[in-house]
Amino acid sequence: MSAEARAATYRTTDWLVKPLWFDDGNVILVADGLHFRVHKSMLSMHSPVFRDMFKLPQSDTGKKSASEFNPDNLDVVRMPDNGYQFIYLLKAIYERSFFQANKAVGFSDEIATSIIVLADKYDMQDLYREATHRLSGLPYPTTFAAFEVRQARPHTTPAHSPKARRVNITLEPFFLINAARRLQTRELLKMLPIAFYFATSMTTEALTDGVARKVLHKTLGDYGREVLDPEDTRRCIEAKPKLVKASQDATRCFSLDTANLSPACAAKQRRSPCLVALERLSQAAAGADLANNTSPLKSREGWFDKRCTDAPMNKLCKDCQAHIKRLHKEAREKVWNDLKKLYDLEAWP
Ligand SMILES: [Zn+2]
Repeated sequence: MSAEARAATYRTTDWLVKPLWFDDGNVILVADGLHFRVHKSMLSMHSPVFRDMFKLPQSDTGKKSASEFNPDNLDVVRMPDNGYQFIYLLKAIYERSFFQANKAVGFSDEIATSIIVLADKYDMQDLYREATHRLSGLPYPTTFAAFEVRQARPHTTPAHSPKARRVNITLEPFFLINAARRLQTRELLKMLPIAFYFATSMTTEALTDGVARKVLHKTLGDYGREVLDPEDTRRCIEAKPKLVKASQDATRCFSLDTANLSPACAAKQRRSPCLVALERLSQAAAGADLANNTSPLKSREGWFDKRCTDAPMNKLCKDCQAHIKRLHKEAREKVWNDLKKLYDLEAWP
């Protein structure tokens, strides 16, 4: 569906949300001025909190009066939640396809974290589990091994980074960081280090001004921008030089140092072919500017392999190649293991 068509679907008439306004619904929920006519039984089935809420006399939860929007004189319950987040929750409940794994439209960090925040609040465990599982599966892996698998997949770049046009999956780490700050559940806290890592690559402008909450916001009013807590913005800005330093560490295996050769080649008294090859490799690495970036976790193995193939005259022996690859991987894994400390997340928030 095009953005325009989707916008038309969500066009509201005086804040009545049409796709979530069922003529046979028996309760009207109002969040942020948005009206939803839904079913008590449906919400009760998913949430013990709603079930208990609907058992209570409704008169004190909202004023009940027949009007253009409430011709059937239904109970009206005012929800203290964000309207746009509430839409995602209801859509995940009502539309089987909305939040399915293979549908790109029903998944973004913004949607997933909105569902997580409200699913936690209303004790909807299945939805909470599914949303956190989806986040940790692809955008925010929680182990280095999973991160390696993710790197092998189509390229992903944080939103608003200079390379954002190349994205397949848009990372919006602010939503995750803020959701983790709010809920502090084990699942979200595990994703925090890599979320901060991705956030650090965003432009300074995005870091200070936040990012637009974009899905649906044009049709349902302006829901403003998702901004990091100043403390977390500072974390990201202060991390930039640390990540550049980490990039230097992670690519030191390509520098001219006999420690980067296999023990057998390093022990050779005379200038070995591998030492000559390493000298050329270190020059190529300097030329490719591998270390001057905030992406120390990025594997340069592809660059290294290509270099070994493209420059057969200066080829390292198999043992030296394997040695360098191992050093590179170990160095990146160390970066991964140090992320929590780098962002000072031990006592977060
Ligand atoms: Zn060698």
